[in-house]
Amino acid sequence: MDDLYRLYLKSIGIQYLPGYQTKQVPVPSVDKAVPSETLEDLREFIGDCHRCQLGDARTTLVFGTGNPEADIVFVGEAPGRDEDIKGEPFVGRAGQLLTKIIVAMGLAREDVYICNVIKCRPPQNRNPLPVEVTTCKPFLLRQIEVISPRVICALGSFAAQTLLETDIRISRLRGHFHDLYGIPLMPTYHPSYLLRNPNRKADVWEDIQKIMKRLGPGTGDSNN
Ligand code: URA
Repeated sequence: MDDLYRLYLKSIGIQYLPGYQTKQVPVPSVDKAVPSETLEDLREFIGDCHRCQLGDARTTLVFGTGNPEADIVFVGEAPGRDEDIKGEPFVGRAGQLLTKIIVAMGLAREDVYICNVIKCRPPQNRNPLPVEVTTCKPFLLRQIEVISPRVICALGSFAAQTLLETDIRISRLRGHFHDLYGIPLMPTYHPSYLLRNPNRKADVWEDIQKIMKRLGPGTGDSNN
């Protein structure tokens, strides 16, 4: 249900429609599989992970970084070479661009939470395999559940399609909010894609402004 329709329903006195998620709900099936109350618990539970073959090839498991109580979580695809070495998500060229986007929102990297669907670098940055996604995704869902952000920003088609369980193209997914267990999720283009297609920066800025508006005053420019 999009914002405008929600507003319209509210204006005619309808606050809740059966079948539509309006409040955050527990993420199904994660609870028993990943028993962690805090991000530290979760990190400990994941441990020196070799649940899939990516564990054998990586240098460092890239769990995630930032404010454990962030209002916004950015989710990317998987660590690249720089991230694998440093153990931190989005520290290479794409990461520098993401940092600029966060700063343009009036925030710092420490204010937000940044992570990936896949915690270990796929060799030669190949696309993650379905079995790797199935293995790692419960950890991401648990991270999101523990942080309980007000908004999620999915960076690129892989993150957006994995989280929303769809194969709809990113060009169609981006630009409006979707629902992930009661949390509004905005898909937008991946910073790596922006490095190759700088003419798409305006689209990303449009998406980011919608996020800022949703987060409200105190987050960047309150006039948006
Ligand atoms: N690209 C991603 O999707 N994640 C990173 O951490 C770095 C690059």
